[in-house]
Amino acid sequence: MKSTTRAVVIGGGIAGCSTLYHLTQEGWTDVVLVERDELTSGTTWHSAAQVTNFGMTQTMVGLKSHSIALYKDLRDDPDYPVGYNHGDGGIRLANDERTMEGYRHFASMARGMGVEYEILDAEECARRHPLISTENLVGGLWDGEDGHIDPAQLCAALTRRARKAGAEVYRKTAVTGLTQHKDHSWTVHTDQGDIDCEVVVNAGGYRVNEIAAMMGTHHPVASMEHQYFITDTIPEVRDAGQRIPLLRCPISDYYSRQEKDGLLIGFYEQDCRTWGMDGISPAFSMDLCPDDLERVSDVLEGAIARMPVLADAGIKTIVNGPITYTIDGAPLVGHVPGIRNAYCIIGLRAGLGEGGGHGWLLAQIIAHGEACYDTWGLDPRRFTGHGNAELTALKAIEDYQNEFRFHIPHEHRPAGRPIKTTPLTPVLAAEGAEFAVVNGWERVDYIKPTPEFVETHSFRFNETFDVIAAEVSAVQNGVGLTEVNGFNRMEIGGPGAREFLDRMICGRVTRKPGKVGLGYLLNHQGCLKSEMTVANLPDGRIWLGSAAAAEGHDMDWLLAHAPEDVTLRSLTNEWTILLLAGPKARDVLSGAARGDWSPEAFPWLSVREAFVGIAPAVVMSVSFSGELAYEIHVPNNQLYAAYLALRKAGDVHGLTLFGARAVESMRLEKGYLHWKADILTEFDPFETRLDRFVDFSKDFLGKDALLKRRENGPGKRLVTLALDTREAPAHGGASVMQGAKVVGTVTSGDWGHRTGLNLAYAFVDPALAAPGTALYVDVIGMDVTARVIPAGPYDPDTRRPRS
Ligand SMILES: Cc1cc2nc3c(=O)[nH]c(=O)nc-3n(C[C@H](O)[C@H](O)[C@H](O)COP(=O)(O)OP(=O)(O)OC[C@H]3O[C@@H](n4cnc5c(N)ncnc54)[C@H](O)[C@@H]3O)c2cc1C
Repeated sequence: MKSTTRAVVIGGGIAGCSTLYHLTQEGWTDVVLVERDELTSGTTWHSAAQVTNFGMTQTMVGLKSHSIALYKDLRDDPDYPVGYNHGDGGIRLANDERTMEGYRHFASMARGMGVEYEILDAEECARRHPLISTENLVGGLWDGEDGHIDPAQLCAALTRRARKAGAEVYRKTAVTGLTQHKDHSWTVHTDQGDIDCEVVVNAGGYRVNEIAAMMGTHHPVASMEHQYFITDTIPEVRDAGQRIPLLRCPISDYYSRQEKDGLLIGFYEQDCRTWGMDGISPAFSMDLCPDDLERVSDVLEGAIARMPVLADAGIKTIVNGPITYTIDGAPLVGHVPGIRNAYCIIGLRAGLGEGGGHGWLLAQIIAHGEACYDTWGLDPRRFTGHGNAELTALKAIEDYQNEFRFHIPHEHRPAGRPIKTTPLTPVLAAEGAEFAVVNGWERVDYIKPTPEFVETHSFRFNETFDVIAAEVSAVQNGVGLTEVNGFNRMEIGGPGAREFLDRMICGRVTRKPGKVGLGYLLNHQGCLKSEMTVANLPDGRIWLGSAAAAEGHDMDWLLAHAPEDVTLRSLTNEWTILLLAGPKARDVLSGAARGDWSPEAFPWLSVREAFVGIAPAVVMSVSFSGELAYEIHVPNNQLYAAYLALRKAGDVHGLTLFGARAVESMRLEKGYLHWKADILTEFDPFETRLDRFVDFSKDFLGKDALLKRRENGPGKRLVTLALDTREAPAHGGASVMQGAKVVGTVTSGDWGHRTGLNLAYAFVDPALAAPGTALYVDVIGMDVTARVIPAGPYDPDTRRPRS
């Protein structure tokens, strides 16, 4: 066994084997995989091993397409052909129009990745799948690439290729401890000896948190028991004259595929069980949980109703094994939060289908710092501070129970709520607030017009349209107040702080005390990493602010580059913003806080300390809505006091409450961007129309790469589109078309209530970025005509926040 290597991958399931293979493909050939037992002895060996191409984001579709291409290549390898039934096809069923609309949106989104799903009616579903009834069926989504693979052969083939490239695989070698050294390198302790390495990768499957504990951390991953059975020969399958396609049913929560001359049926029962919450026996390997078909009887009934041949089918084999889930259903692939040189590829619940792609993206992240796609949806740093074992278990159960029921726009499911709150949460709830969840925080989405108001979640505009319109109007014409909790806020200090910020941000950063500026941080590829406000408090302190979701990500990025004379302290959990917006915002602030708040004394982009009522606050005159606005940052223990003072001062000015959805509508009208919707690692500042935030006269991280990118010209350009429909917004991922050709992808979309425009942002081919260009957008299957308009159609000279 080697005693030193570059990377040690812990775990020989599909996650570890794929990572090992792809590391060698990225040029890291001195790498090792250690497996406590035999390869695939965790979950992988007994997987139903279906490989589908369906995903709900472009990154998911892209990585699954990579899996399929790789598996086809392995299948066709003459030296070691892997058993892979590619192209059986598969149907996701629907018994309501809303699910069909979702499928139409996903079809639009996938087209941008070169993947064609077909939307079928019920009769066509039955034509392609000869065993199903059309009872209670509206239609489905067809994915022609669906199939299944032999998991053991797949892992053997991947490690075989990795070994050929220089990697080594140590079976029967359990990792027993991990020691990190001052230079962030590691010693991996195993029961066969120690290995020193630069980088460790946790690919431990359901033992993820045993390995995490060795690093002194915990991951929001929980295991669920999951069952399938395989039938005896079914004559209708044997004699069908075709392979039986895969089936996924959100109506009764089962899936099926052909297995020899029978069927394999898997279940997501409502009466489900977590597994291993109190520890896992070291002896559990190549093992299964006791089967319990009683538990799945409700969903089995649904499966029999859809496929009547099942009623007479004998059961040959039952499998019940642990399967891992996370808080939001997506895996955790990337940096281990807060620990340098540590990566993970965990929480895979469809690891056979996705594992090829996840390993590919992770290897790129390890070798180059970034993958070819923006991987935020998989990034382990997307949960901060709330991913404990209990919450994870609740979300895992909820997700398991809704396996094939995707989230409808603005849907926030109830399990594990509330977890992150402020003293104002119950106060705002009593005011009728409807909350959305942002990085665990309960954030006001809108104020319900009546206590009975219930939103019918939809891909179309719904009954919230008028509610948001009224909130926007109140802000535009008077003054509104909302809470922005969880806003990521750091205090940066130390003698090197200014120089450090200058190096990290690609534009000029104001150093003037009392001033606020906006800056962008790039990665080593010259693309966009983060967006930050820099606030120079008059007493010399510097605050950095960014999106709530960015808390773990931004701290990690800054700490990874900060020299020793720079300190960073998170204030995220101690402070909250009260956002006051509208032409009367100054009147309300003046009524609540002593001082001269006139535009001369406190112009746009200023910051100062003040008391709001009796509560200490840091006030910034910045605006995401495009109206005159103040961000009032208040320590949480005095937040209610500040809120009361503002409400009182606001009474005479007709102050109303509003929420994040109104802000979303207003920021689109201003051309402002949202991190990880519009600001992505796949694009540089020029492509993202942030040219004015780049200053080549100074040095900054990513400068050389950005200069090269500029020379090559933009691959895409971010534009604003006005769509000719009042029926639905364009959802992120929707394809922008010219004729039959996909020429771009929507990043954000919503109705602009002040402009009366259905607005969307999209990255499109640069030749089509000029205002006036006519395009169309595939919005839930409708071909909607659209035209490129100048960014920020509302108050284009930005006079209102300066007024
Ligand atoms: C019943 C069932 C059906 C499924 N069907 C499908 C399907 O149809 N399609 C699909 O895509 N997915 C399916 N899945 C999910 C899929 O099987 C998993 O996502 C995948 O196998 C997980 O792979 P993994 O490598 O992450 O974990 P594992 O396969 O569990 O691998 C982890 C490995 O790490 C090793 N390890 C742990 N701790 C240590 C240590 N300390 N030292 C060394 N090694 C260690 C373990 O021994 C194990 O081999 C199914 C799962 C179940 C349970």
